[in-house]
Amino acid sequence: MLKYQNKTEFLEQRFKKYVQIDTQSDPLSTTSPSTEKQKDLGRVLVEELLEIGLADAHLDQYGYVYATIPSNTDKKVPVICFCSHMDTSPDCSGLNVKPVVHRNYQGEDLVLPDDETIILKLNEHRDLKNQLGNDIITASGTTLLGADNKAGLAEIMEAVAFLVQNPELKHGTIKILFTPDEEVGRGVDHVDLKKLGADFAYTIDGETCGSIEDETFSADGATLIINGVSSHPGFAKGKMESAIKILCAIIDVLPKDKLTPEATEKKEGFIHPVTIEGNVERAEARFILRDFDDDLLAVHGKSLDQAVQSVMKDYPNSTYELKISEQYRNMKKVLDLYPQVIEYGTLAIERAGITPINQSIRGGTDGSRLSLMGLPCPNIFAGEHAFHGKQEWVSVQDMEKAVQTIINIAAIWEEKS
Ligand SMILES: [Zn+2]
Repeated sequence: MLKYQNKTEFLEQRFKKYVQIDTQSDPLSTTSPSTEKQKDLGRVLVEELLEIGLADAHLDQYGYVYATIPSNTDKKVPVICFCSHMDTSPDCSGLNVKPVVHRNYQGEDLVLPDDETIILKLNEHRDLKNQLGNDIITASGTTLLGADNKAGLAEIMEAVAFLVQNPELKHGTIKILFTPDEEVGRGVDHVDLKKLGADFAYTIDGETCGSIEDETFSADGATLIINGVSSHPGFAKGKMESAIKILCAIIDVLPKDKLTPEATEKKEGFIHPVTIEGNVERAEARFILRDFDDDLLAVHGKSLDQAVQSVMKDYPNSTYELKISEQYRNMKKVLDLYPQVIEYGTLAIERAGITPINQSIRGGTDGSRLSLMGLPCPNIFAGEHAFHGKQEWVSVQDMEKAVQTIINIAAIWEEKS
């Protein structure tokens, strides 16, 4: 095995450069990418890929970066893609990110310089206990860090440079894909899978060092519209049927001690109202439905419909519309058809000297949709922690292990072919 070592300086440089470019995505925008500034980072990445020697590297009109490392083996090896997203979460500012490196962490409180009330404490971030002696990178207290997913970008870029500079390490064709708008759920809307031409892919967007995730939620969205009966409140007796009250009654009959985010964990699903607005005449609520099991997800949809019907009985002159639509599906049923994807990913982690952690995500990734679109795609750790907030952190040493894992994946697919 060829070892990626003595290069953490370059890895850290890359990461710090990427996080200082604001790439926040915007859920309210209708353009693609949702924010034009995401292309600023895309252009930097393309330039660097060209410098490394990937002649076809380019940014397309939708803000996607594509590039190829040609095969250097006589064997016929499946085409493997490594993928990360360039945008950061709309939940927290990504403007003027100032990365701060805390060298040789010894368990002390990490106080962020630009807002000293923001303190990372060992007992509040359980993964910090595995970081003693490591170099931790945080933001400065006024923004998120953007390790989600710029850690993944930096790791893939370092792995690309390593593979190109070490041609004695044999690998098949490797594809690089950097996507915009993952954080607003539109990360693969305009991806061109035909152009990409990959057989299998790995997103590098997981949390804890050593983790490999082959299972995500299956997800539906539901929109419920209540058309009530409005009348002058002074003369409403026996006539008015308030859409606001009907909607509140429906939300009130939904389970409270189960099937809600605040009462579930692990493999348990939920029905969750996320927005509600309206007036006496018309009220609308949006829900998200989640489960790891597609059949149970369908049952949650039916339960919501039954709750609606049970309340509507009391309002004979009002009507409702309930629309449930698919958002994404658990990638596991696709990945189970190609067990080698997880097997080689797990082996790559072991060879990097880490104990693999196989787990599921109570959420979705670009990989959930890519898998269902025909590109099986589990998620590998990038080392990002406490993402979407000011306490976000990553360690340089975890990032280094992720680079080694990516390199190992490329080598193992060639070795096993
Ligand atoms: Zn992410």
